[in-house]
Amino acid sequence: MPLAARGVLTAVAPRAAVVIAALLCSPGLPAAAAAPSPPPSSAPASQPPAAPSTAPIASQPAFPSASQPAEHSADLSRWCAQVVPRLPRIDLRHCLASGLAPTGAHSRKQVPIFSRRMAAQREAPKPLRILLIGGMHGDELTSSAVVFEWMKLQAAAPRQEYHWHFVPVLNPDGLLAASPSRVNGAGVDLNRNFPTPGWNKEAPAWWTQKTKRDPRRYPGKTPLSEPESRWLHQEIDRFTPDLVVSVHAPFGVLDFDGPAPAPERFGNLRMDRVGVYPGSLGNYGGYYKHIPVVTIELANARQMPSPRETRQIWDDMQRWVALNLVARPNGRGAAAGQASERSHSTPPSAPHRLPF
Ligand SMILES: [Zn+2]
Repeated sequence: MPLAARGVLTAVAPRAAVVIAALLCSPGLPAAAAAPSPPPSSAPASQPPAAPSTAPIASQPAFPSASQPAEHSADLSRWCAQVVPRLPRIDLRHCLASGLAPTGAHSRKQVPIFSRRMAAQREAPKPLRILLIGGMHGDELTSSAVVFEWMKLQAAAPRQEYHWHFVPVLNPDGLLAASPSRVNGAGVDLNRNFPTPGWNKEAPAWWTQKTKRDPRRYPGKTPLSEPESRWLHQEIDRFTPDLVVSVHAPFGVLDFDGPAPAPERFGNLRMDRVGVYPGSLGNYGGYYKHIPVVTIELANARQMPSPRETRQIWDDMQRWVALNLVARPNGRGAAAGQASERSHSTPPSAPHRLPF
């Protein structure tokens, strides 16, 4: 159990750093132990395969602008041809039929970020808005692949109760790197790059003092220095989600922050609050913006959960959503949390174990 190996340490600034999503996949283990690479038995040598996508992104042709709808299909075909060889259990046909469309945003290395929206069929009384992010860390291959499978499950649902926005690959640079990497094309850990209060003081200090300058956890020079984190930050304000779900691996737990009862269990994943980090999405969204943030840490970064477990996690999450969440009354465009963003000094609502 990876969590057992985590040290419980004092945060650099405990009152400011309340977090979640980021942590789980980035405990303070030595780099080699923290790497999400699964044991040999679960990481076949063929994964990721030695396909054209294993070439450095820089050596591949840049994706064209996705501004013209007529080009979307060609853009998706090109994108799928690159990412699919990295995604366990996802084939090209699945990707091409995914309904993904260009967001207009690109990674540091100019790879487009695709997403899919599914609108609620029933507008009354007020459908929840759910933003689901996979692949923030490019070496957590299953965290992207499982989003493809959940998109497919949701698209086949008899009724659409919520507004969904799926983003299966937030960090394509990391996914497509010669050896898939946690960081983006500029070497930044996107899950340390969100503008949590006190970032300028805390994030560099955390990186220097707690991680000993671990390159896998470099927070960047400034908050939102990276195009991927800038886009997601803007998208949170545009889409005004009632829930953010961030998928990671490989620690096999759930984490949660924000104003709602925490889930206890999705599939075989059980709640285990782990800690908080400056600059993480969980800290930024769940604590600072008052948006519930669920972090799903799959049990393996390269080997998918069984189809049954994949479905069970999805079904359990939807059950928890239905029982515990309501659309925020200020609604779309109300700049979730802008009127109620917590001050820098607001303490966490619950004790967190702090790895590192
Ligand atoms: Zn992660």
